[in-house]
Amino acid sequence: MHNTLLTPLDKVITMAKKHYTELQKNNIVTVQDLLLYLPREYEDRSKFTDFANIRADQTNILIGEFLSVHKEKTRNNFQLVKAPFRENSSQQIIECVWFNARGIDKTLPLHQKVMISAKAKLNYGKISLQTPKVQKYEGEISEGLFPIYPTLSFITEKWFFRKLHEELIPQIKNGNINIPNVVPSYFLEKFNLLNKKEALLILHYPKDKISLKKAQDTLAFEELFVLQLVSLYKKQNIQNAKHKSCVQAIPLNANLMKDFFKTLPFTPTNAQKISIFEILKDYEKPVPMQRLLEGDVGSGKTLVAMCALLPIILEGYQACIIAPTEILAKQLLRGITEFLAEAEKQEFFEKYKIKKLENHYNKNSENTENSNNTTDNTLFESEEIIENNHYIQTQFLSGSIKGKKREKLLENLRTNQIQILVGTHAILEDPVVFHHLGLAIVDEQHRFGVLQREKLVQKASPHFLQMSATPIPRSLAIVAFGDMDLSVLNELPPGRQEVETKVITETGRRTIELFIDDQIEKGRQAFVICPLVETSESEGFEDLRSVEEEFTRLSTHIFPHRKVAILHGKMKSKEKDTIMIDFKNKKYDILVATSVVEVGVDVPNATIMVIEGAERFGLSQLHQFRGRVGRGKHKSYCFLLHTKSYKNQRLSAMETTQNGFELAEMDMKMRGTGEIFGLKQSGIPDLKMANLMDGRKIIDAKESAEEFIQSNTSLESHLPLKDAVEARKKSMLSQ
Ligand code: ADP
Ligand code: MG
Repeated sequence: MHNTLLTPLDKVITMAKKHYTELQKNNIVTVQDLLLYLPREYEDRSKFTDFANIRADQTNILIGEFLSVHKEKTRNNFQLVKAPFRENSSQQIIECVWFNARGIDKTLPLHQKVMISAKAKLNYGKISLQTPKVQKYEGEISEGLFPIYPTLSFITEKWFFRKLHEELIPQIKNGNINIPNVVPSYFLEKFNLLNKKEALLILHYPKDKISLKKAQDTLAFEELFVLQLVSLYKKQNIQNAKHKSCVQAIPLNANLMKDFFKTLPFTPTNAQKISIFEILKDYEKPVPMQRLLEGDVGSGKTLVAMCALLPIILEGYQACIIAPTEILAKQLLRGITEFLAEAEKQEFFEKYKIKKLENHYNKNSENTENSNNTTDNTLFESEEIIENNHYIQTQFLSGSIKGKKREKLLENLRTNQIQILVGTHAILEDPVVFHHLGLAIVDEQHRFGVLQREKLVQKASPHFLQMSATPIPRSLAIVAFGDMDLSVLNELPPGRQEVETKVITETGRRTIELFIDDQIEKGRQAFVICPLVETSESEGFEDLRSVEEEFTRLSTHIFPHRKVAILHGKMKSKEKDTIMIDFKNKKYDILVATSVVEVGVDVPNATIMVIEGAERFGLSQLHQFRGRVGRGKHKSYCFLLHTKSYKNQRLSAMETTQNGFELAEMDMKMRGTGEIFGLKQSGIPDLKMANLMDGRKIIDAKESAEEFIQSNTSLESHLPLKDAVEARKKSMLSQ
């Protein structure tokens, strides 16, 4: 029986119980786990230093032998080990010194050829080598890039070296441990990659940088390929779920879109048209669409959502739109209702009758006489909307709709009297039953977890569209949302003004305050964002302002003659909504808030966004804040204030670009992917080998995985691949 990568480590190498337990604690249990315990760096030992070239500022690698060894105590009772070392080529003797290296005096090989590497120190004209690493020199092993392993708790770098190079790797070389390729050889050849076994051996002792790179590429590709396969199989599973309410194929009706576009007050951008087209193409297949629509703030995602709704509704299905908060849900509701109202005015729906629901409309119209007309000002009073008389019944549901009203709504939903249900996550709850859900749209997706998505899939197998204002670089989106197709709104509607952005230090504060006052005088409004809610939170961040402090300061000292409101996440949702609506209706001039305003709330009259402690936020999040202004016809401004202690290089990127995708990419380069706004919640898989910045490789891996699936090759004929896919699936579930 051959051992494999999954063989438990203790079956193939010897180790003390203590080491075994410590490795286990760190999830190093199998051969593979130890093989993936990679060197933290490599030392180029292809060139040895001779005595004449020893330098104090670099690591010196010398060949020679130790002549003797002895211990010494320093004055403050530290232990020193000293050993004279004779360098081979010059026969000069150099002193080696170890500080507090217990046991080295007993294990140091004397009178044997060894290779040592160490920093040198010059003291009163005498050279000594500090704490050298010692390795028996056997000619062969010293060539190439020497691996330096990270230590793990008490387990030394040397232990890892010995176990890997003296016990494990020889068994791989002699075939006792079998390492098959995971990636089908076709792709290895196509991308000029190595066999997995070869790649692993190289990683532990590369000949040179070029072969190291190739080995890394090989394992990175494998990792991404497997990950993409997992995502694609997941997508296949969702799409193959034989659910009673699977949507039938809907042929693309270009006239419907053209006619609808005529009812709009503007021309859709090209990016909008392309995204809409991609969605309608998805509908032509009798499998539920799984699509992510990414578009910067203000890129017009609501219109795309509307166009995604139309064919579904006209085909007689129901649709729902889910937003993370009530305010946002109501805003979406308004967007959709406005589009619909305009279309109705133009008798658009006379031409395109809802297929299976004509009777329902006639039946329902008797209610319309006693219903008040529902217009903008009652928009946030959801109860009014229930009684509206639109041709397409659009209703609102959130946790705050209760009792009789809720019952009636649920009843209407079940019996297909409602075509579009807009609301919060309340829509996902069990008592909410659709008659025939054809499309689910989720706005601001980063708040929509994987579990919630599965809840939805359990309800029905509707087409699924996630909308996100977080601009994620494409390569990253492929990794993070591999089970979705991607549409990108990479263009803003024409005529948008840039939001003038300035990074301001404390000394500029007064000028900004005067400027804000001037804008308010002109009828505009301002947001002030603070990183913290209360002062008590600010421990360790004494120079950061809390929202409460700032509210008090602004309302009593700076703008006593203006109306200032406060908004933060600790307030009740009803309270928050009221304030937001009052702000929108100009009852306040200034809104001091925490990051609760970060998502989509639309206040076109607000022209100023001040962000306190801006260094605390990622660029993509700052960009989201900035997107709250510049939504109306007036020129808008964003001021980024930072605390004294902070250098503002990163922030100045905000001054130079308004492109969310660019900012996200910078975030990724400077602070890592975890910092991209909201991405943490959506769960980027844990990658060991692959670099998320390597867009080319990510796309290659994705396309290869698609090719593999399209070729209908069974995983059963690629067992190592099957195992790898299963293992990745498992690790993603436990993440
Ligand atoms: P977001 O992508 O942030 O959700 P919205 O859908 O709210 O953006 O659109 C922002 C604003 O732009 C809305 O007032 C909308 O009516 C308007 N809009 C959308 N598309 C266009 C377009 N093609 N031309 C002009 N204005 C547009
Ligand atoms: Mg939106």
